Amino acid sequence: MAQVRTRFAPSPTGFLHIGGARTALFSWAFARHYGGTFILRIEDTDLERSTPEAVQAILDGMHWLGLSCDEGPFYQTRRMERYKQVIDDMLAAGTAYRCYMTREELDALRAEQEIRKEKPRYDGRWRPEAGKILPPSPVGAPFVVRFRNPTTGVVSWDDRVKGRIEFENAELDDFIIARSDGSPTYNFCVVVDDRDMAITHVIRGDDHVNNTPRQINLLQALGAPVPRYAHLSMILGDDGQKLSKRHGAVSVMQYEEDGYLPEAVLNYLARLGWSHGDDEIFSSEQFVAWFDLDHITASAAQFNTEKLNWLNAHYIRQADPHWLGAEMGKRLACNGIVTADGPDIRRVLVLYRDRVSTLNELADAIHSFYVVPHPAAELRAQHLTETALGALAALRENLSACVWQVAELGQAVKQTASAAGLKMPQVAIPLRVALLGMPQSPSIDSVLEVMGRERVLQRIDAVLHG
Ligand code: GLU
Repeated sequence: MAQVRTRFAPSPTGFLHIGGARTALFSWAFARHYGGTFILRIEDTDLERSTPEAVQAILDGMHWLGLSCDEGPFYQTRRMERYKQVIDDMLAAGTAYRCYMTREELDALRAEQEIRKEKPRYDGRWRPEAGKILPPSPVGAPFVVRFRNPTTGVVSWDDRVKGRIEFENAELDDFIIARSDGSPTYNFCVVVDDRDMAITHVIRGDDHVNNTPRQINLLQALGAPVPRYAHLSMILGDDGQKLSKRHGAVSVMQYEEDGYLPEAVLNYLARLGWSHGDDEIFSSEQFVAWFDLDHITASAAQFNTEKLNWLNAHYIRQADPHWLGAEMGKRLACNGIVTADGPDIRRVLVLYRDRVSTLNELADAIHSFYVVPHPAAELRAQHLTETALGALAALRENLSACVWQVAELGQAVKQTASAAGLKMPQVAIPLRVALLGMPQSPSIDSVLEVMGRERVLQRIDAVLHG
């Protein structure tokens, strides 16, 4: 295959959302797979809706996911001279023409078409044709520039996802490529850029299928090669509805905030509409090695939070302990919790990392190792009864002299229970409430070991004397 060049071309009007991130991922992986070039292009010509914050959010999202580009980011707003030049070239070549139709004339045309129950479309009155006499161009009057679209035949392409798609040229009117203020329009900029950037494969959402015939005609009028197109089907929410803000975390960075790992999100997105046999868990290197356009499904993909959580749990279990410790330290610090003076965070994490599906759950689970708990009155009433407090006092004595290792600590709890004529949980549960402020935890001997003698004794004392 010729040198592959793909692009991700977001309009910076909001966050990088899940659908956009998947488009970016597929374009990136395709270029990487073929040793090609991945280009980032910011389509910011809609000045009203584009914001620098949205540009930053897109860059942040891509950085977080590890989707680095080889060229760009290119900004369309910085290419205005180039667009103007191509418009002039097209006017000179006769592939585009000036149209002086006024707003009133256009409204009148629309009204007539409506009465005749016709699709609203430009009637070609300023389109130059052999033998046709055009009205004289009004001097100094505003005009738009229209593309001279072919009027007959079909425009078609073999979509790499959707198969063959055809449009009748007669259905496409001569669309505007430059507005009356001279600014170029959306489809035109895309085409000039795809040509100038020598894009070979356009991978994008299928909301662009209707733009593609116009873009192909324009490319052909410019004598440019037509790239291959792969239009990705939309992503539906968990409930089968089109994915939207209602579904909560639609911005990629929201996932970071909610405690997802980029590896998990990437792995999850990779499987959203693409498959490699039954493989569910794979690295981004494997994804790049396996990725192709043949295994993208034409039907809509459905978001499945449970599956994302399952993958995230997997990547949390696999995470490098140093990284995870540092990450947890950061997350807890955001809530004002200092971990430096507490038990070794990596040892605490070993106890909890298999029990959670997000980093936030993990932070919640371990935070009581770093702040003295204040068990709720209800919990105290239920678990710190007279008998329980008696057992905790005895246990305190045993623990103060105990060898601080799991086996010995387990033994100490057991012996304290049997000496008091109680079952193991009758001591272990109040002990958990005293140590962590909650009746459940991983095995109590490990909790004791990791928390350390001094802290354990302090916390027991706090409930005995508090
Ligand atoms: N800027 C377009 C969007 O954000 C994408 C254009 C394209 O990929 O051709 O939807």
